[in-house]
Formats: sequence, structure tokens, C-alpha cells
Amino acid sequence: MADSLLSAAPSASPDPLACHNTPDDPAERDRRTVPSRTPDTPDPLACHNTPDDPAESDRRTVPSRTPDTTDPLACHNTPDDPAESDRRTVPSRTPDTTDPLACHNTPADPAESDRGTDAAATAASAVPGRPSAEVDVIIVGGGPAGLSAALNLGRARASVLLVDAGRPRNAATLRSHGFLTRDGVPPLELRKLARAELSAYPNVTVLDRTIVTALVPTGHLRDASTDFRFIAALQGRKAGIPPAVAARSVLLATGLRETLPDIPSLRAFYGMTVFSCAACDAWELQDRPLALIGQTRDLAARARLIARWTDRLTVFTHGADVVDTVEEAELTASGIRVERTPIADLEGDRGAVSAVRLIDGRSVPIEGGFVRPLWHPVLDFAAGLRAERDPEGHLVVDASGRTSVPGLYGAGDAAAPGPQQLIVAAGQGARAAAVLVHDLIGVQTAH
Ligand SMILES: Cc1cc2nc3c(=O)[nH]c(=O)nc-3n(C[C@H](O)[C@H](O)[C@H](O)COP(=O)(O)OP(=O)(O)OC[C@H]3O[C@@H](n4cnc5c(N)ncnc54)[C@H](O)[C@@H]3O)c2cc1C
Repeated sequence: MADSLLSAAPSASPDPLACHNTPDDPAERDRRTVPSRTPDTPDPLACHNTPDDPAESDRRTVPSRTPDTTDPLACHNTPDDPAESDRRTVPSRTPDTTDPLACHNTPADPAESDRGTDAAATAASAVPGRPSAEVDVIIVGGGPAGLSAALNLGRARASVLLVDAGRPRNAATLRSHGFLTRDGVPPLELRKLARAELSAYPNVTVLDRTIVTALVPTGHLRDASTDFRFIAALQGRKAGIPPAVAARSVLLATGLRETLPDIPSLRAFYGMTVFSCAACDAWELQDRPLALIGQTRDLAARARLIARWTDRLTVFTHGADVVDTVEEAELTASGIRVERTPIADLEGDRGAVSAVRLIDGRSVPIEGGFVRPLWHPVLDFAAGLRAERDPEGHLVVDASGRTSVPGLYGAGDAAAPGPQQLIVAAGQGARAAAVLVHDLIGVQTAH
């Protein structure tokens, strides 16, 4: 299926499907300068998409279109941006209230915006016309959920288009933990190993640095084929990306965006010695004096969890009234301090946090910590489908990853309820893939 639609067009130049292992993204380039990683020989990160690979030459025939002059995916943080160069050296700069690492893309960037008031109408109008390609399944998002689904769908002989904007949630960290056989793997390496495996399946096409800007039911197009329930509008920085693709089914695996508490230097330590996931990173911080910083009502519960790894924990509410007196008494009885004074900033150097400085001038020494971000699934591009979402915006899915919309599935962090971990996301992707294949051919069986 993918072959026929993709071979219909002349090969594109430059190649939209070329391996994007190059550190174009300044944030990625930063990470690659960290010296802790021993070079691999042979390099498992090497791009295996050689032009000689028949699977690759298939992939190089995506229908061409006029190259975009504007790049909807570009993060406009330049390497010269002081916020970027400060990242690992920290906090000499003037505190500001904006996140120094945040991509400064404007709401005009469809991938960034989940804020539209009439998202469904916007999404529908963004589909440029009749699709120029058709596949069994479009997977939106190339994190562990999407990659795992692509592998399993590829093996099930489905024609698959995986579209990935390339901004993984865990990009802030250098090591990922808890993934069987890959404990401690750099986040990008995990993705690249998975991508290399996908290259063995000619029926799986991967579009890098490309976003799905709109996903609509085919019903809005007159004379649309009833076989294909969805149309996705694509936008990317390379020439040759089909502007619209039709699919029988779609898997949403777009992960989450995070908003951290408003503390000037927090980003500089995030992913280095301050983390959000205890299951992922508390082992490395065990028995140290730690902070837990947050402004949500689950802070006391998270404190009890983190106390599993240390008996020197201070909870910082950063001025928010989120720990009540009963909870505080319970925490205090367990040896956990509660500090309600707002935080002026974190102190430390080169990613190693050393203290929490409060606005009253006091300083609390720490050697690591956890933060409770706010999490936002970014799914506005699919709002026109009206899939059920929970109060936090996660996709509501059944035990198999089906959403409330027939043919539409969700996996990974974008789908409730978590836990938010790589191997969980990969498992959810695999499960959704299996069920999706059953649904495509209309069978019901456990295996
Ligand atoms: C600092 C940090 C450290 C972490 N450490 C660990 C750890 O050690 N172990 C662990 O198990 N977990 C860890 N996690 C959690 C882990 O990163 C997530 O649970 C996991 O990445 C979720 O996978 P996913 O596939 O759902 O989403 P993601 O990995 O976030 O991937 C989603 C992808 O979808 C793309 N996308 C989004 N919208 C679109 C669109 N419209 N079109 C195309 N593409 C789109 C994104 O660019 C991204 O590439 C960590 C998280 C953070 C923040």
C-alpha cells in the first residue's frame, strides 16, 4: 500500500526521509558535547539508512511538493541565545520569569498551539485538499510509543506512516532508566536504535521533523473514499513531504509538554540533578538531601513516595497553598520538612544543584531534587475528531488503546493514565498496534 502511493511521485531532493542524526537542533547539539559518553565502535547511533538499502530507496519516493520557505518545526532558539549557552553553567544570568530553555516558537506554530478557541474548525481548514498518499495507519509521534507501534504494525504488514516532530519529552536528560536491557541509555540513542530496526520494514515510512498540523475525518471531503477514515495534513522542513495523507486508522502518540514552576534557573538543573519522575531517577539520588518542588495538590503524596529513597527531604510549595495542615503534620512526623516560603532561585553549577535559595534570604542545602511539572497533551491538531479527553487533556482510551472515535487510538504519555515511563509507552504502543490490526480486519481474539 505504502509502496504504491509513495512510488507515484518523483524522488524528492533534498531527501525528506534522510536520516536526521545530525544535531541540527541547538538543544541536541548541547547534549552531544557532554563528554560523559564513550564513543561507540561501531557506533550504534550511526544512521543505517544507507542509500543502498532497498528499504531506503522505497522511502525516498514520497510525492514531492513545493518546498516550504518557512519552517514550522524550527525552534527559534539559536546557539547564540544566552539562555542556551547558560544551560549547563547556570545561574550567573539575571533571573527572569520565562523558561530559558523553552522553545520560543509562537502560537502560530501548529505544534506549539493547543490554545485555539475553535480548534476543530482550524484543523479542518488546514487540510489542503485531496490526499496525495494513502496508508493503513498514520502514527503521530516518534517516541517509544509511536516507534513500538510502528515496529509491530510493520511486522503485521500494514502500510505505516510515522510522522515525528522530533521533540521528545525526555530530551532534557542525559540518561534514561528502567527500560529493560537499556537501563542508563541516552534518550536519543534509544530512539535511534528503534529507527534502525524500522529500516528493515519497507512498508514503514518515517517522516522526521515533520508535524501533523491537522487530523480530520474524511467526511469533510466530498467524494472521499469510505475506506480511509482520516486525513492528516503534514508540514515539515524538507521538500517532498506529501501535504495530505489519508489513513484507515491513526495512532496518537504525541507525548506531553511540561510547564515547570516559575523558578529562574530550574531548567538548568532539570534532567541533570533535578527530575520529575521518581521511578526513573530517584535511584541515582538516593540517601542525599533532596528537594521536592511543586504547586499541585498531590505534593504531599509525591513527598511520601520520594521519601522511599531518602530520609532528608524538604518539600517546597513555592508559596502555593497545596499542603494542608493535616498533611504537613503527617509529613513532619515522617521526618519530611515542609517549606512554604517562595523560592528565589536554585543554586549550583554545571547542572549540579547545591541549594534552594528562598526569597527571605535563607538557603537550604540540597544535592538533588524532584519537581512536579504541569503536563499538557498537545492534541489541538486532532480536535476536529472530538475524541474524549480527561480533565487534564489526556486522551481517554480503553485497555487496548482505543479512543472514543472508531479507528483512532492513543498510546504513551498522551493517553491517560500513565505511569509516564518509556517502557510503559512502548508497551502501550505495541498493544495498540496489535488491537489496531485486529480492528482493521474485524476480528476479535486475545492473541
Ligand atoms: C527529564 C525527564 C526524564 C525522564 N527520564 C525517564 C527515564 O529515565 N525513564 C523512563 O522510563 N522515562 C523517563 N521519562 C519519561 C519519558 O520520557 C516519557 O514517559 C516517554 O518519552 C513517553 O513516550 P511517548 O512516546 O508517549 O512520548 P515522547 O517520547 O514525548 O514522544 C512524542 C513525540 O511526538 C512528537 N509530536 C508531538 N506532536 C506532534 C505532531 N503534531 N506531529 C508530529 N509529531 C509530534 C514529539 O515531537 C515527540 O517526538 C523522563 C521524562 C522527563 C521529562
